[in-house]
Order: sequence, then C-alpha cells, then structure tokens
Amino acid sequence: MTITPFHPPKRTLMGPGPSDVHPRITEALARPTIGHLDPEFIRMMDELKSLIQYAFKTSNQLTLPISAPGSAGMEACFANLVEEGDKVIVCINGVFGGRMKENVIRMGGTAITVDSDWGRAVDPKAVEETLNAHPDAKVLAFVHAETSTGARSDAKTLCQLARKHNCLTIVDTVTSLAGSELEVDGWGVDAVYSGSQKCLSCVPGLSPVSFSEAAVEKIQARKTPVRSWFLDMNLVMGYWGGDGKRAYHHTAPVNQLYALHEALCLLQEEGLDNSWQRHQRHHQALVAGLAAMGLEMLVPEEERLAQLNAVVIPEGVDDLAVRQQLLAEYNLEIGAGLGAFAGKVWRIGLMGYAANQTNVLHCLSALESALLRQGHRFTPGEAVKAAISVYQ
Ligand SMILES: *Cc1c(COP(=O)(O)O)cnc(C)c1O
Repeated sequence: MTITPFHPPKRTLMGPGPSDVHPRITEALARPTIGHLDPEFIRMMDELKSLIQYAFKTSNQLTLPISAPGSAGMEACFANLVEEGDKVIVCINGVFGGRMKENVIRMGGTAITVDSDWGRAVDPKAVEETLNAHPDAKVLAFVHAETSTGARSDAKTLCQLARKHNCLTIVDTVTSLAGSELEVDGWGVDAVYSGSQKCLSCVPGLSPVSFSEAAVEKIQARKTPVRSWFLDMNLVMGYWGGDGKRAYHHTAPVNQLYALHEALCLLQEEGLDNSWQRHQRHHQALVAGLAAMGLEMLVPEEERLAQLNAVVIPEGVDDLAVRQQLLAEYNLEIGAGLGAFAGKVWRIGLMGYAANQTNVLHCLSALESALLRQGHRFTPGEAVKAAISVYQ
C-alpha cells in the first residue's frame, strides 16, 4: 500500500478546542524556519513576550510560552510552585479542576479540595471557609473557565480571598484568555497558564504562562529542585530571559512561535476588550437560537462562559447520531459532554476566530436539521430568525 500525503477535510470547529485557525496564522506557520538562537528570532521572541503580557494584562517579567500544550502549562505551574509537603487548596467544579488535584499529588503536595457542583461557578464562600480551616495552605488553585461545563468562576474574588490568607494563586485560563475579561495584575493572579488553540485561534501545542514576583520568589526559595527538568522555570529562563545571553535549553518550536506571534498581533489589532465583547455578542445570538429550538443551557446565565456553551441534550435525542450528522453533512464539529455529562450535554464552542456570525447561523441551521431528523419538536426556521434578531 502506498501512503499518500495527508489532506485533512475543511471543518468548522465549534467544539471545546482547537478552534478555527485564522488564515493569517496558518500562513505564518509556513514562513521559513530559522535558528532558534538567530538574532532575528530572538527579536521576535521579545515581541512575543510583550504580546503575551498584553493578552494577560500583566507586566510580569516571567512571561513566556511553554513549548507544549495547555496541560504542560498546568504542570509547569504546579511543578514550580508546589514543593513536597505543601498544602494546596484546589477548587473542583469540573474535569480540569480534577487534573489540578492530580498535579498537586504528583508534586508531593497535599491537596485540600473544595468541591462545587459541576455546571456552576466555584463557590467563594466554601473557598473562604476552607482557607480559614487551613491557615497553613500555601497555594489556592482554580479554573477560571471550566471548559468541561461552560461555567465561569469569579477569579477576582477568589484571588482576593487567597491574598487575604497569604496564599499564592494558580489560575487556569486556557479557555478564558482573550474570550472573557481577565486581568492578571489587576486581580493579583500569581501563576497563570493558557493554551494557544482556544480563544487565541492558533494551532494547538503552546501554552502561554506568567508568574508574579511573589511566585518567582517562591520558586527561587525552593529547598528541592523542580521535579521536571523540562518545565523548571529556572532553566527555561536561561533561554527566554530578557537580559543577556540566551542559553540553549531545548529547540524552540520555531514556526509554531511565529503562529502565536501572529495570533497575538491579531488580538492586539482587534483590541482585548473588543475580543471579549465579540465573544459575548455571538454567544447571545447562539443562545437565542438554541432557546427557539426549545434547548436549555446547563449553566445559570450569570455564570455562563460566552466561548463554551453547554447545551442540555433533549430527551429522546441520540447524542452521537446528531454529532455524526453535523460532521458528515455540515463539516461541523461540536463537542461531546465530558465525565458525568457524557451523553447529557453538547459543548458548542465560540472561540476566537470561530466566534462569528456565519458560524453561529451555520451551527443553528445544521442543528435544526439534525434535530428534525431526531423527531425533536419545534418550529423550523425560528432558531436562525431568533439569532438574526439579536444581531439586529
Ligand atoms: C483545553 C484545556 C486544558 C488543556 O489544554 P491542552 O492544550 O489540551 O493540553 C486545560 N484546562 C482547560 C480549562 C482547558 O480547556
């Protein structure tokens, strides 16, 4: 058998990530590869660092993209900030909070969990009680935008609570960056990680991270070396450090970094606030359309993410059949439910470049056709009409 070059189909990506990649970003990927210590490349890296600072709203010196996906950014934060015996309070309201706990344990820390209902924000009252009960806790960790459920937590309030109790914060912003209001310095976040493939609309495989001065002090005061060589910030800084010579640590994913640079240029051109508002506008149109089909949202309105819409699958409708039809007939990908929500919800992403009117109307009309086939009862045509009236 002869294997021929792989040409993927053209899809519309409205799942939990990756999202549609902007053509300017795929074009950036195809630019000539140069050495990762080339002076021109180093100039690009410096720009990239300041673009990431812009996106996070931070002036943290230790700000850079980890050369691996969001999960590696998560691991970098826990590996550097958690030492053997450290007590870490972990908020769990979905799949990704559970992974944070797993990280704490693997780094030799003790995880104290604050469990909130899946589909709801983290409960600040429960967090405060736990902070009071564990005055020796060193770190508070939580997910800003829980992609598994579509719930947004109040990061500002949670960070204030942590500060009051002398805890550093580790915040997962993989899905929130560029899609929801986020202020790393303004809210006092100490360690933050994100991903390239969600609301930045870049290709997967990079994780922007940033550490506050207090976090850097804690890393430098460690009694034991960071357990991961690859993710040890002391070593990574030798390559990404702002001043002086760059030392080889690992070969940077040169072309992927061009792509992230382009994605962040796009974000800067649009403006951070405009990007947040655009996600909100298309979310409102989508929700109006879903409601017109008689579909319900999982998350209460005030805790909903614009960029990840968890929709309750109506009784009698075949989850898999619908998603397969959307993919086969409309080249449209939406996400399945995760964990406890498998088979119970769909997760419709409106992330980055994919958050646009064409996609919203395409998704609604495709869903109408799939739900009609399933025998779900509603008035055809009303969904698109409802969405259009939001746009007008
Ligand atoms: C996608 C996601 C991750 C993991 O990112 P990968 O790039 O898939 O490793 C972590 N946290 C949240 C909230 C996510 O949505």
